[in-house]
Amino acid sequence: MLETSDPSARQLGDVLLEVRDLKKHFPIEKGFFRSVKGHVKAVDGVSFTIREGETFGLVGESGSGKTTLGRCVVRAIEPTDGQVFFRLSEGEAVDVAALDKQALRDIRKHFHMIFQDPYSSLDPRMSVLEIIAEPIRNNKLLADSRDIQNRVRELMEVVGLDIQHLNRYPHAFSGGQRQRIGIARSLAPNPRLIVCDEAVSALDVSIQAQILNLLEDLQEEFNLTFLFIAHDLSVVEHISDRVGVMYVGKLVEMADTESLFTQPKHPYTEALLSAVPNTDPEIKMDRIILPGEVANPANPPSGCYFHPRCRYAQDICMTDEPQWSEVAPQHFAACHFAEELELRGVDESR
Ligand code: SF4
Repeated sequence: MLETSDPSARQLGDVLLEVRDLKKHFPIEKGFFRSVKGHVKAVDGVSFTIREGETFGLVGESGSGKTTLGRCVVRAIEPTDGQVFFRLSEGEAVDVAALDKQALRDIRKHFHMIFQDPYSSLDPRMSVLEIIAEPIRNNKLLADSRDIQNRVRELMEVVGLDIQHLNRYPHAFSGGQRQRIGIARSLAPNPRLIVCDEAVSALDVSIQAQILNLLEDLQEEFNLTFLFIAHDLSVVEHISDRVGVMYVGKLVEMADTESLFTQPKHPYTEALLSAVPNTDPEIKMDRIILPGEVANPANPPSGCYFHPRCRYAQDICMTDEPQWSEVAPQHFAACHFAEELELRGVDESR
């Protein structure tokens, strides 16, 4: 098992990924000489672990830093600081954040990303065959064209695409089918970790359900591990084993899905959950409307970043940053009053 300093991982099985104190700060450049006047702290010291075969959901409003975090994990963008340990085999882990380009290329086949927009994430000039074959060729997994084509056909069948459409181009497919092409492409190098960045957000609700079911089936069949990034909490609740909630570049709460949804410990989570639609029209929704916008990560408020929007804020919240602590078994939150507040989760009888 990967040795971990993260207390949330104490009782986890085999940890596949450990993110430690990860940061991504974008410089703000101004003037003719483009001198650095400050930083947008999009991700600011995030730590969590994901065990093999688990789905870790990451939620937060737009601008919370969750997409930037996902991109840093797979080194699609360079983290500013921190470590991303990925377990290659029993007793052998690499820090993805510290690898040089060649070493990164060698292990890239182990993780892949599925993007939000199935329209723009596929190259319209490439056929389905070329799109799915590209990571196979790039990772030098197969050399013979016939073998590659057979592998592409196999992947198309796995994700429910008609193999007769091998030579069609993306414009000939619906949104759901395009996302299936994206999933087949992500499976091509036999990855162990897939980062799904708002993977179903652009799809109709009925198609969303189909893609979520497909992802769950694939997870079971190939023992995949998912980092599932989404703003839609219903989707995250459906697919995740554990969930982390991000606000202005930091994790503010993390727990198993049921605890987080039924017994939230952070006021921000409570507000997000109040917007989850209820399937029973008899149950009256009492939505918490958060005042203002997500704080500016280039100039966040003092103390608790959430205090200008928090209905429970007290004086200490304006001056002291709350510490990340275990407020119930395997349930973590960063709020001065996490253990005292009685927050409302989703209705368990839904
Ligand atoms: Fe609200 Fe204070 Fe908790 Fe921040 S620390 S979430 S402002 S109660």
